[in-house]
Amino acid sequence: MDETDRTPRPCSGDTGAMPEPASTPPAGAPLTRTDDAAVPAWATSQPPPEARSPEAVDRLAAVLRAHPGALVLTGAGMSTDSGIPDYRGRDGTRRVMPMQHGEFCASTENRRRYWARSFVGWQRFSRAAPNAGHRAVAALQRTGVLGPVLTQNVDGLHQAAGSPDVTELHGSLADVVCLTCGDRSDREQLQARMVVANPGFETLVRGEAADGSRVSSQIRPDGDVVLPDAAVTGFRLPLCLVCGADTLKPDVVFFGGSVPRERVDACYALTDAAPALLVLGSSLAVMSGLRFVRHAARRGIPVMAVTRGPTRGDGHMTLRVDAALAPTLERLARAEAA
Ligand SMILES: [Zn+2]
Repeated sequence: MDETDRTPRPCSGDTGAMPEPASTPPAGAPLTRTDDAAVPAWATSQPPPEARSPEAVDRLAAVLRAHPGALVLTGAGMSTDSGIPDYRGRDGTRRVMPMQHGEFCASTENRRRYWARSFVGWQRFSRAAPNAGHRAVAALQRTGVLGPVLTQNVDGLHQAAGSPDVTELHGSLADVVCLTCGDRSDREQLQARMVVANPGFETLVRGEAADGSRVSSQIRPDGDVVLPDAAVTGFRLPLCLVCGADTLKPDVVFFGGSVPRERVDACYALTDAAPALLVLGSSLAVMSGLRFVRHAARRGIPVMAVTRGPTRGDGHMTLRVDAALAPTLERLARAEAA
């Protein structure tokens, strides 16, 4: 591990809700993961009618063939078929309120609540497997139709499907970082430590609370579940093995947190080098993904999306496909293999 990996990452990285600049942000500007909890105006719009026509996928295939190596930007819709739900419903409203970066940093009790939920959620989350859509993306990368993948997901399923060249915009739940000393560690090992430190808590994993009530089995996109406060209180928070602080955090960008500068720069470089941009399974509600769509549109390259319902970036799209994601990707992969 080199010195830069151990740089302390205090909670001052929380920049809150950052207003969006009118022009391209300078290289190196942080991207804050924020969105609107209320139903935004774009969410009540409709994709153009032709987005649902059977020919839309043929047109998409033709544009991709003419622009080999398109940059792929994926969102939560990519993983719903793997059993990991989206934060938003079809109407654009947020179904669950994820823990915010500032909230996580604010207190030991908040971190206890996060890790107790995450301890239970991880059992299911870590067993999620890639779906046909992930496999089709990997196949289309192998044939050169698609290029690098830029994902807003933290589940590692693109890599598990064999995709090369994946950048995780919001990090990975498989990694843990200490906010006090910067030490990085493995989530599986942390899970094993939490099992030992919290005997009896495993029953929650099976959906049973200590008082006999049922615990929600609804896993959330960042890998946690809803737990009653009474269950959270008794959870023993894991401590950093290097410095002893209780500030271990999954190495993901929480809502309200900032994407590391080097990663932002790398993503802009990918967008600058891309012959086209293809958005898969994202409503682009989160500004950190929408920025790259706007940047690609300003460059004048084809910007396309396959996702159900409206996206916040529809005004920048040269082609929209409003269809189920995995079957559409499989059809594209089959057409290229033929
Ligand atoms: Zn530490």
